[in-house]
Amino acid sequence: MFEALAEKFANIFKKLRSKGKLSEQEVDAVLKDLRMVLLESDVHYKVVKDLVARVRERAVGKEVLESVTPGEMIIKIMWDEIRKILGGEARDLHISSALPSFVVLVGLQGSGKTTTCGKLGAFLKERGFFPLLVSTDTRRPAAKEQLRILAQGSKLEFFDLPQGKTPLEVVRAARNFAREKGLDVVLVDTAGRLHVEEDLLQELKELVTQETLQEVLLVLDATTGQEAVKVAETFRECVNPTGMILTKVDTDARGGAVLSIVAQTGWPVKFVGVGEKVTQLEVFRPDRMASRIMGLGDTLTLIERIEKAITQEEVKRLEKRIEKEELDLSDFLEELKRVRNLGSLEEIMHMLPGNLRGSISQIDGEQSLKRVEAIINSMTLEERAHPAIINASRRRRIAQGSGTSVQEVNRLLKQFEDFRKIWKQMKKGKGLSLFGRKPFGWGL
Ligand code: GDP
Ligand code: MG
Repeated sequence: MFEALAEKFANIFKKLRSKGKLSEQEVDAVLKDLRMVLLESDVHYKVVKDLVARVRERAVGKEVLESVTPGEMIIKIMWDEIRKILGGEARDLHISSALPSFVVLVGLQGSGKTTTCGKLGAFLKERGFFPLLVSTDTRRPAAKEQLRILAQGSKLEFFDLPQGKTPLEVVRAARNFAREKGLDVVLVDTAGRLHVEEDLLQELKELVTQETLQEVLLVLDATTGQEAVKVAETFRECVNPTGMILTKVDTDARGGAVLSIVAQTGWPVKFVGVGEKVTQLEVFRPDRMASRIMGLGDTLTLIERIEKAITQEEVKRLEKRIEKEELDLSDFLEELKRVRNLGSLEEIMHMLPGNLRGSISQIDGEQSLKRVEAIINSMTLEERAHPAIINASRRRRIAQGSGTSVQEVNRLLKQFEDFRKIWKQMKKGKGLSLFGRKPFGWGL
């Protein structure tokens, strides 16, 4: 996702990790690098200054500099401070107990409001809600049509009024409609222009002051960087949003922009859009976003995906084995097959810490999976359970038996080792997360 920024972080970390003890001067040199990286990545200088100062304050303490792994501890501090800037904890969508609850999306044209409205509808429906999609863009028929099509696609209820009505009138009518139909969350898509325009803002102002709305979320295109911050300021004065949704966070090299936007507005981010498809909406989790920005991988999200594909029982069985470090090559083969069913392997790769990416990514494609399968099938049960016993002559035999080469057998054994590491790391990540955070539960 944020390749460029993550790579720059990786360079800083390499320097940090290569050192045993760190002097205060060395910490300052690292912080100087950090400052450069962040500035180059579109993070506002004030945010950078603040962040660096806070990291420094915690990093030059006695415990850190005199600890066994000062480099790791400084990385952890950076991560923690970035996580805090991003909002600390994930925030639930506020849904009132008096139904229907209203979530209004505001923002500039092209920021992704309509798309996000459809995504949110599908997201809530999947969690047992009965959403209603409402378009208040009563001037542009095409805009309404776009939302209607999205609603149809996800089998969601849709509501609008004929042209010429104000957003306030539409919302009031939608409230009655939702009550009659027993729908619980009303998602309101609003009109946005190319620029912030007075009359449009007045309409929104009228809406937010006259109706009780549980959430007014500003949809911001993360790729616009500092521009997004300016837009946010205008909307703050007029509608005072309860939070934000950042879109297009899938596009490259924008980790810095996300950091900057959140730091400068101070509003909680509730969701991020990570693609054009209706399923590509994620709950915003500051800890994970911090890990992604820093290239520490996103093992928590990966765990969720993997858990979806594995039954609970299998997870337990695997967990037991991992605890005993007994994960064997048969499990490896099973996992490879499952991981391939999770979606594109490439997508999954981006969630892994960089150093583990390389070797696993070679097992892409049906063809190479078949070869891996052949190799493992040519091993004895004992070899599968205890790969350590596979010496040179066994490797030759396995290669011959599977119609592959010794190099391929070697590579597979190496990949298996990496896989073991990932699993261990993920297990660690799950209970404690990377650095002691609890995983976020969707507490609705
Ligand atoms: P609106 O004018 O604010 O309603 O914006 P739209 O919902 O019509 O979206 C504008 C464009 O941005 C469309 O082409 C969407 O497909 C695209 N878009 C919206 N959200 C995302 C996202 O999270 N990632 C990507 N890559 N594109 C998005
Ligand atoms: Mg729209």
